[in-house]
Amino acid sequence: MDKQIFISEIFQEYKKLLEEFIKFKSVSTNQEYQNDINSTADWLNQLFKSNNFKSKLITGYDNPLVFAEFYQDKNLPTVLIYGHYDVQPADINDGWSSDPFTLTISNNRIIARGAVDNKGQVLIHIATIFKLIQTNQLKYNVKFLIEGNEESGSPNIERFIEENKELLSCDSVLISDGEMSAKRPNIEVGFRGTFNATLQITVGSQDLHSGIYGSTAPNAIHILANLISKIHDEHNRILIPNYYENVDDINDEIRQNNTNIPFDIEEYKRITTRKDIILFDGNDFYTQTGLYPCIEVTGIIGGYTGEGYKNAIPHKATAKINFRLVSHQRAQELFDKFNNFIKTNIPPYADFTFEMDGSNEALKIDINNKYIDHARSVLEEVWGEKVIYKYVGGSLPITNYFYNSLKAPLVMIPLANEDCNMHGVDENFDIEYLIKGIKFSVNFFSK
Ligand SMILES: [Zn+2]
Repeated sequence: MDKQIFISEIFQEYKKLLEEFIKFKSVSTNQEYQNDINSTADWLNQLFKSNNFKSKLITGYDNPLVFAEFYQDKNLPTVLIYGHYDVQPADINDGWSSDPFTLTISNNRIIARGAVDNKGQVLIHIATIFKLIQTNQLKYNVKFLIEGNEESGSPNIERFIEENKELLSCDSVLISDGEMSAKRPNIEVGFRGTFNATLQITVGSQDLHSGIYGSTAPNAIHILANLISKIHDEHNRILIPNYYENVDDINDEIRQNNTNIPFDIEEYKRITTRKDIILFDGNDFYTQTGLYPCIEVTGIIGGYTGEGYKNAIPHKATAKINFRLVSHQRAQELFDKFNNFIKTNIPPYADFTFEMDGSNEALKIDINNKYIDHARSVLEEVWGEKVIYKYVGGSLPITNYFYNSLKAPLVMIPLANEDCNMHGVDENFDIEYLIKGIKFSVNFFSK
């Protein structure tokens, strides 16, 4: 069959399915939509069954998980495709140009809640694989795991993966979520880990008159501010001893990859509303956010902040701090280093507590395997552009669970346009990107 016709046939079937998929208000962040959540899972389950998959709903881990399998031959490698059917809330009164739960096409874009996050993206692989099965071209055994709690933090997915290693066992995991940077094909190869911690300084048990005691009594806010000022130099390089110890060396190849990603400083200023960017050691934006740890003080509480003034010396001050870690750093190790830094720098007349609240480790994906190679060559063929390896500054805990439990290479290929506005109004999938996504999926799974 002519390749062009083949792709357009998949697209037509995709569109029909997406229209139904979008109609379910499968919002997982609000209990009100529980019926829609259940109906979406049922719909997917039936869809897989009617396309010769062995499919089931798995309960006991919050919203039902859809697990579907198409097994051909033990000599073929198995790819597990992960996605989610739940979506963020959406209401036409938020400013949508059409009903968010009705698929609308405008300016060559599909507009709907879930158009890219994640219904529209996971459905690319579903529709493509159905077609490849019908035409006897599928070169893999395939498993789909589609969950319904991603937008509400997937509280039970780690336990699910841990308890179902056998069911999920595979040679590679493919995830298409998120958007493509720089209008070029991306392979996401790293995510920073993260943890939050609260630092509290106390210098006694009560605030004091600032006239009578001023300049003699320790002030908790001064001490906290002084400590915070010692975390970074003026270029935001972290000054805490040995903090960069387990950061992997960044070789020329990685730096070159990152500096090749188009980066527009004026666009950065516009989006962030900041007057400038702060970089150290000759870093570019992608290297500094993807391959270096960071410490951001995200909140300070202390003293009197009501109307007017209260001239009292505060005895207590608190900072909320977000930490991001990379490569071989461990959350506990950084917590300990920070704790030592406070111990060393706090004056003897002050006390402190420092407490960690949840953590997840960094993940750097090994790119030396045939699945990444295969994805790269297919992407470059479809786009006619070189792939960008993207080290993502944010954190995506599920990647750790897959990587650590299944020990299979992760292939993270976002397919959406950068201006897709996921989570926002008029979430949209550019049809040009969508078609390229289908071509990627066809070539990935038929070769
Ligand atoms: Zn999302």
